[in-house]
Amino acid sequence: MGEMKIARYYEEGHRYLVKCNLCPHFCTIGDGKTGKCQVRKNSKGELYAEAYGLVSSMGFDPIEKKPLYHFYPGNDIFSIGSYGCNLKCRFCQNWNISQNIPVDPESRKRFSPEGLVGMAVGKKSNIGIAFTYNEPAVWFEFMLDIAKNSKKKKLKNVMVTNGFINPEPLEELFDYIDAFNVDLKAFSEDFYHTQTLSKLAPVKDNLIRIRRKGKHLEITNLVITGQNDDSGKFREMVKWIAGELGEDTVLHISRYFPVYKMSAPPTSVETLQDFYDIAIEILHYVYMGNISSANGQNTNCPGCGKKVIDRSRYDTWVSGLDSYGKCSKCGYQVLDNI
Ligand code: SF4
Repeated sequence: MGEMKIARYYEEGHRYLVKCNLCPHFCTIGDGKTGKCQVRKNSKGELYAEAYGLVSSMGFDPIEKKPLYHFYPGNDIFSIGSYGCNLKCRFCQNWNISQNIPVDPESRKRFSPEGLVGMAVGKKSNIGIAFTYNEPAVWFEFMLDIAKNSKKKKLKNVMVTNGFINPEPLEELFDYIDAFNVDLKAFSEDFYHTQTLSKLAPVKDNLIRIRRKGKHLEITNLVITGQNDDSGKFREMVKWIAGELGEDTVLHISRYFPVYKMSAPPTSVETLQDFYDIAIEILHYVYMGNISSANGQNTNCPGCGKKVIDRSRYDTWVSGLDSYGKCSKCGYQVLDNI
């Protein structure tokens, strides 16, 4: 067994019990047990970050695939993930790494932050590192060590997250993470409770924190047949986004396909289009994901309506913006990071 990394954000209790304060579950964990995320383990009253250095997947992806459509469009980002998650979504697309933890993590190769950052700087079109695939919050210690290292190399750090993390660790991440894509899975506590075994309120609070901090923020909402496809609720969510986070907030509406424990039929393209039509009346930038149609992919200038970014699958052409991200016709600031 390699040297295990002590976890951050926990308290020691009586009789080898520990309480983890990393996410709003606040798990109380007995000796030899792990928290709900399955990767933070109590060994004799100390909490260890079991997945430190363990990588389940890595590769260079177009940044549009995260999805981030307004953050250095057309570039690649070195994407890495590990194991475990603090949510238990019945519709998880990556359940094989989020809910299946390798039985013998001790025998797995462990990467170093320096080694991974070295890989990231090796490709010219790469702008940084994305923590994605499983929930990066439960990989907190390793993510932070990588992100600190990558900043020294002038790379950008991106977190693709469920947003279910406590304010203090999130605040610590703000020093190193440049952009967030947060899943807003539904606008209903009941959905969060029954379908993800977590809570909506902390996610909303964190969206506001990320926005107030001035970080780049995009939101993804997966629309699931019969589960969160009530158009009234959806409109309520979009209005909340516009009111609390601003109408320039980027929203990705994504089509669901049956996977893991969810067998409802795929979301119809019509439903997705209806939701797009609702959202685009309220927000400036709305996109449709997981569909083959060309609708809902391009960016139009909110100022004058001119098409400024063309997208076709993962090919991106920034055609109507100047080098500061302003519309070349009317001067509207469309992108902050180009
Ligand atoms: S990070 Fe894991 S162990 Fe800690 S509170 Fe959340 S689910 Fe529990």
